[in-house]
Amino acid sequence: RPLEITLIDRMKNFLSIENLQLLKQIGKLADQINYSAYIIGGIVRDLIIGRTNEDIDIVVEGNGIDFANLLAENLGGTVRCHEKFATATWKHPSRLKIDITSARTEYYDYPAALPNVEMSSLKEDLFRRDFTINAMAIQINEDHFGKLIDYFHGFNDIKQNKIKVLYNLSFVEDPTRILRAVRFEQRFNFKMDQQTFDLAMISADKIASTSKPRIAHELSILLKEKHPVESLVRLGEIGIIRYLIGTHSFNVQKLKTFKSLVDEIVPLQQNQNSETWVCYLVILFSETENEIELVKDYCLNNESLKVTDQIVELLDDNQNFLKEDTLGAIHHSLKNYQTESIICYIALMQLQECFANKLKKYLQNRTQIPKLIDGNDLLNLNIEKGPLFAKILLEIECAYLNQEIHSKEDAISKVKREYL
Ligand code: ATP
Repeated sequence: RPLEITLIDRMKNFLSIENLQLLKQIGKLADQINYSAYIIGGIVRDLIIGRTNEDIDIVVEGNGIDFANLLAENLGGTVRCHEKFATATWKHPSRLKIDITSARTEYYDYPAALPNVEMSSLKEDLFRRDFTINAMAIQINEDHFGKLIDYFHGFNDIKQNKIKVLYNLSFVEDPTRILRAVRFEQRFNFKMDQQTFDLAMISADKIASTSKPRIAHELSILLKEKHPVESLVRLGEIGIIRYLIGTHSFNVQKLKTFKSLVDEIVPLQQNQNSETWVCYLVILFSETENEIELVKDYCLNNESLKVTDQIVELLDDNQNFLKEDTLGAIHHSLKNYQTESIICYIALMQLQECFANKLKKYLQNRTQIPKLIDGNDLLNLNIEKGPLFAKILLEIECAYLNQEIHSKEDAISKVKREYL
């Protein structure tokens, strides 16, 4: 009989006090209606590894929607139901969002109706998941608070730093799990076991028939993590890169150049939301016979589409900006380009150091351009509203970058001198 493991200490150490209290309250409410309730998935894995994770997913053996409503009645907040899947999202008054799903054998819309969603036991719910390390639950009912439910030895696999699928056809059923495997390998410094790696290799071709948005979703998460280049190299070893971009060889140096430029130039707060991840795809696609334009199939939003378009434009451009000597002149040409587009261009072209340094200096300086004057200042100078506004404001930015002007007064005198 496996040892019963309790994770109360881990929960105390790695959950916020508020969330720990909330889970206790949720467990007590589940007791009231005789439901078993569990936290499940990534948060359980992270508690065992010893990482904070406040992304709470709950499974109840009972009706998830009813339970979410019960939580809202007792603890406040609002519920959004997804009837079709018998799941609900409960938004706690603290704005925390908790997903609640149902795990039980049958679910009836109303008494005597036919079951419309086949629901499974907790074990089956866990078995449908991607890896043993993600297929654990922790019970939160009062009498069992903290009890680990681990049917597939995920706890041991975490202790041995292993990523293991739950069944042989796992990657065939969902090839995006191969991308997830690499994500967890890199994030935790874990390794797929030999069998999982072999299964990934023989299922790699299945990714070719998976929908692009699903692939893009997983790829974007993978490439936004700390080790995008290593992840791509690993995808190459598995042999899946070929089915994603059409070739298996790629220039790791360009990827590395891009990564180190991102680390050097893209400010941290911008990094989190920026579209740097899509640039890795652009670099990979540029190595193939395929058009970079194909990257657009993976763009999930307008921002990533824009970055892709901009990189293509920069490559097609006559690139005169490389010959410019002043930062102001470079700004004239590149003002509208996102930082990641320009960085990707530097990496793709493997620009000589002198050119790369010039563009780097420009990127670093342009983040510090102050707004010396705005439209109101121009109106006060009796300049008519229109396209001239943008032109003048750009001129002022360029002059600032060239250290020709330093203050608002300088800017206004320049406008008076040149435009009035
Ligand atoms: P992260 O810390 O990156 O959010 P996570 O494990 O919470 O990691 P999610 O993508 O949010 O990852 O998924 C939540 C849970 O849902 C996972 O722990 C896993 O159990 C399950 N899951 C997600 N995607 C799949 C999939 N493609 N196949 C099977 N199970 C999946």
